Amino acid sequence: MNGVELRNVTKAYAGLTVMEDINLEIADGDFLVLLGPSGCGKSTLLNMIAGLEPTTGGAIHINGRDVTDLEPDERDIAMVFQSYALYPTMSVRRNIGFGLKMRGMPKDEIETRVAEVGELLQITPLLDRKPSQLSGGQQQRVAIGRALVREPSVFLFDEPLSNLDAKLRADMRIELKRLHERLGRTIVYVTHDQIEAMTLATKVVVLDKGRIQQVDTPENVYRRPANRFVASFVGAPT
Ligand code: ADP
Ligand code: MG
Repeated sequence: MNGVELRNVTKAYAGLTVMEDINLEIADGDFLVLLGPSGCGKSTLLNMIAGLEPTTGGAIHINGRDVTDLEPDERDIAMVFQSYALYPTMSVRRNIGFGLKMRGMPKDEIETRVAEVGELLQITPLLDRKPSQLSGGQQQRVAIGRALVREPSVFLFDEPLSNLDAKLRADMRIELKRLHERLGRTIVYVTHDQIEAMTLATKVVVLDKGRIQQVDTPENVYRRPANRFVASFVGAPT
């Protein structure tokens, strides 16, 4: 199966269980949002898919391949963090192209790809600036560009918009939705923001205390919450 599959995944930090027996199928092309309050385990789950945190038990498959014990760069994924994590001394162009350079891609091919991504994200005029010369929203765009340029089959986003102001957040939501429609790639997107979940997701996973509470369309999570927690968290009438 293409997409991402979690089978009986568990996670403990220093003997303390934070994720219990997670089973989840993320279909190829889905925009799947992991929604839940702070501390419920969203980042832990995403980091296990990325290979940044080892699983304690269970298996993770990406595009039908067992990646449980593979390094992040062997998983066909790219991740965008809340804290952009750009290289401060490099230009935007080099920030975006760096991963490709590390893979040994020829220089002219890197330039073509960086130019394409710059065009797509409307940051072409910024390519020769340093990250410190950009606004928060522009930096986030560069971080997204750095993920896009690698053309992974799965994009992982950890609260990418939470450092932006409300207006910019609304603009970026629209952009991310367009981007997903245009690329048709699988996205796993972590947020604690119900509005983001409702507007972006094709499928929502509501998490609480390391357990899945509901997996459903945004409409159903809102209209037919599986339990009280979901109802109160999503803010739907009970
Ligand atoms: P979220 O992203 O939903 O806010 P996290 O995945 O960061 O939640 O955290 C889930 C739980 O795991 C929390 O109780 C948190 O304190 C704990 N946790 C996260 N990272 C670590 C770590 N590196 N070491 C120990 N505990 C951790
Ligand atoms: Mg988190």
